[in-house]
Amino acid sequence: MSSLTIVIPAHNEEANIVPVFSAISRVMQTCEGIDWNILFVDDGSTDSTIQCIKTLAEKESHVQFIEFSRNFGKETATTAGLHHATGDAAIVMDADLQHPPELIPIFIEKWKNGADMVIGVRESNTGEGLIKKIGSFAFNRLMITISETKMIQRETDYRLVSRPVLDAFQQFTERGRMTRGLLNWLGFHRDTVPFTAAARENGVASYSPAKLVQLAINYFLSHSLFPLKIAGYLGMLISITAGPTLCFMMIDRYLLGDPWHFKFSGPAILAVLNLSLIGIVLTCLGLVALYIGTIHRESMNRPLYVIRAKNV
Ligand code: UDP
Ligand code: MG
Repeated sequence: MSSLTIVIPAHNEEANIVPVFSAISRVMQTCEGIDWNILFVDDGSTDSTIQCIKTLAEKESHVQFIEFSRNFGKETATTAGLHHATGDAAIVMDADLQHPPELIPIFIEKWKNGADMVIGVRESNTGEGLIKKIGSFAFNRLMITISETKMIQRETDYRLVSRPVLDAFQQFTERGRMTRGLLNWLGFHRDTVPFTAAARENGVASYSPAKLVQLAINYFLSHSLFPLKIAGYLGMLISITAGPTLCFMMIDRYLLGDPWHFKFSGPAILAVLNLSLIGIVLTCLGLVALYIGTIHRESMNRPLYVIRAKNV
């Protein structure tokens, strides 16, 4: 008998608590040999979400909950859920039924077949605005290209993580976090499950565009040094083009007496001189960025390594 904890962060989801619970329990009745429970994390809801959860927990032994003192954001709520998950594996799922519970048996099957992490990959998203679609596509592509952490195109937070991953996850101490990014960073054996996200069942999405951008920036900063290095690369580019040009102009005009009649004017030489100085400054900035990058890495204090299995 193995056990499964389903972690559900919920912020103002009063109308979804009971539906999501019944949908999950209907599916779980078909899974034999799995002892399951649902762990709701109420992320400082201002409606009656927590009352709904508490009422449900009194009736149903499968329901557990964590109540936050205020809104800390979905990433923190998910983290708390994963920290408190007691199962041999945990599944993270949204409360709004956008993550179809019917897939849980597939997640479990892939886990039983040896995957440490099973990731829901979104095929398409009904009822999502064009801007959000474009935004998340662009973000994904960008991160896949420049990030040091391996991620999958269109991956979502809907995923199963096994006990070794949960234990390793406990070691992260960084604050500005994107749970999905950290789980990706851990590595382990992964498998994917494609799904089509349904439209939100009840209520409104509480992730505003501004919040999403903030999240993207967080991910960007904690998984890539690329933004820091841009200045340096630019500086080097300017230096290697403007530097030799300047030398050539100076030698031509002041040493050789302009034998080829280029007639470089004083302002032109000054402009190129300026440009090369800017190049030097930017290169130095890039150099400083490397040090900041090191400090950044040290202060994130990620685990040095993550062990998947051992026999010592
Ligand atoms: N959520 C949360 N805290 C927040 C915002 C959202 O716990 O501050 C939860 C929300 O209840 C839902 C999940 O995170 O279960 C996804 O939120 P939402 O549906 O608003 O985002 P989207 O579907 O647009 O990603
Ligand atoms: Mg949603």
